[in-house]
Order: sequence, then C-alpha cells, then structure tokens
Amino acid sequence: MAKPKADYVVGVDLGGTKILAAVVDTQGNIVGRSKRKTLPSAAINPDPPLVADRIAVTVQEAVAAAKLSMARVKAVGASAPGPVNVDTGWVYKAANLPGWHNGYDLGPELSKRLQVPVVVDNDVNLGTLGEAVYGAGQGYADLIGIFVGTGIGGGLILGGTLRRGFRWAAGEIGHMTVAKGGPLCGCGERGHVEAIASRGAISRRLGEAIAAGEPTALMVKEGGVIASGEIRKALDASDPLTQRVLLESEETLGIFIASLVNLLDPQCVVLGGGLVESLGQPYVTAVAEHAYAHFFLKDDMDKVKIVQAGLGDNATVLGASVLARNLKANI
Ligand SMILES: [Zn+2]
Repeated sequence: MAKPKADYVVGVDLGGTKILAAVVDTQGNIVGRSKRKTLPSAAINPDPPLVADRIAVTVQEAVAAAKLSMARVKAVGASAPGPVNVDTGWVYKAANLPGWHNGYDLGPELSKRLQVPVVVDNDVNLGTLGEAVYGAGQGYADLIGIFVGTGIGGGLILGGTLRRGFRWAAGEIGHMTVAKGGPLCGCGERGHVEAIASRGAISRRLGEAIAAGEPTALMVKEGGVIASGEIRKALDASDPLTQRVLLESEETLGIFIASLVNLLDPQCVVLGGGLVESLGQPYVTAVAEHAYAHFFLKDDMDKVKIVQAGLGDNATVLGASVLARNLKANI
C-alpha cells in the first residue's frame, strides 16, 4: 500500500489555562480539534515536561477527531506565551506558566513525543499571522496585530514577513511606555500601555474607584476581578464610572496606535483579544477615532484600516498552522 500523503498540519495554542489543537487542511479549514486544561488542577506546578505530554495528547486527539492518523500530519506548529527562538523551538520563559521561568526546549520535546517536525513561535505573533493569512488582515503586507485581554500583546508583519527581532523579542507593544511614572505594569515597570488600556488595567482602575466609594452598576466578583462581559453589561446600562474608565483606555490605546502608525505606516491594524471580542465594533470605532485624530499624515488616512479581528479563538491555531506548513521562521 502506498504511504499516505502527509498533507495536514496541526496548530496548537498553549495558554496559561488551556491547550487548543486544530487539524488544518491545505485550504486553511479546521477539520478536527481538541482542547484540554493546561494542567489537571491549579495546585499542580506547571512542570514543562508534563505540559508537553498534555500538548502531545491534545494533538493526537485532534487528529483522531479529524478521523486521520498521525501519518497524515506533515508538521505541528505550536504557540507559547512568551519569547521563542523559532529556529530551535526554545521557549525563553512563559510568564503565565510559573514553572517555565528557566525556559524549555518545547519544539524538540514535542517533536520527540509526536515523531513529526514541530515549529514553535510566540502566541501573539501567531495570532497576528493567523489574522493576516485567514482573518481580518487578509491581503495586507504591512499589518500590526494588537490583542487586548488581561495584558496587551502585539505582532508585526512588515513587507509580508513576521518581524521577530534578533533576540526574538519584537512586537512586545504592551510594554511600550505611554505615561512616564504611570501605573505599575505586570512586568514591573510603570506607565506601559498594558498598565492603562488592557482589560486587567481597566478592571483594576474600576476596582480602585469602587473602593474609593464611587457609585456603579458593576457587579464585582470576589477577588475584585471584573470580566470583559461585566464591563460590557455596565456600558449597556450607561454606568458613568465604567464609561469614564473605558473612555480613558480607548483614548490611550487610540493615541498609542497613532504612534505605531506614525512609525510604521502599515495598511492595517487588527484589534483582537477578549476585551475587543466582548465590546465589539463600538469599542473598535472609538479607538480608531482617537487614533486617526493623532495621525501625523492625514492624507488618505482612512486607507489605514483599523479593524476588529475576525478569527476569535482560532487566530493562534490557524497562525500556528501557517508556520507548520512553511516549517521556517521567515514567511
Ligand atoms: Zn510592562
């Protein structure tokens, strides 16, 4: 019997809470998927080999769900929540995975477990790549991806190439300073855009105002975390506190995008992530209006598209599938 053609790839999205795997055909269609928690219980230390084992099983389950065998899989592309040497598959660190501070050889370790080539890249880079190839950024050679959730991540595609930087650390736009001496960022520095405009920052600012006695329609869960859906509900109820804090974050993000556009003059800025998905087009429109107001060159500025991401949770697995199909850092 002839050897089956290995014409499928698998994209993996490794996050702090869950692992997603999707089998993708040559047209970019997802034909099978699987999902599991990154760790079986929050109490367990995220020992990298344990996570690698769980990724491998998730990949095998996705392949089984597609009614295929691993012999049909050409390669696996995997994301990691941190900087990655794409040439070797080494993850330098992963802030959401506490046991990974000394790095891990994720690519070779997965390849050993799955017996196929494995390529690894940063998750937001792959989310941007997914949107560029299959989502809202299709057709643009110069594109910036901005993903707003607990933090703010970014990816840069310039001249059709994902830009990773010579230390594999490019695109960390959440950690660009927009307010000297401003609020403390998760990275330990102050005034980064992530510390002002992320869902985490909005949640924190709302919590501070509520603690100071400001009236609000917001429902705050125990632990003080305010989810994106809760922010949307309070906006729908025209809650003045939420409106004010959100306006500040929209303005900061808009001005920040204008700075990026003034630097790189891209054709498209794609806005994705949990907060953007939850708040939708009204949020994207508000951010875009603030951005356009601060463009240096106003001519043809509406040709710089500022759009909502189109792939949701599939952006990273699809971007990872593009990487798997190309099997190299430069695309
Ligand atoms: Zn920071």
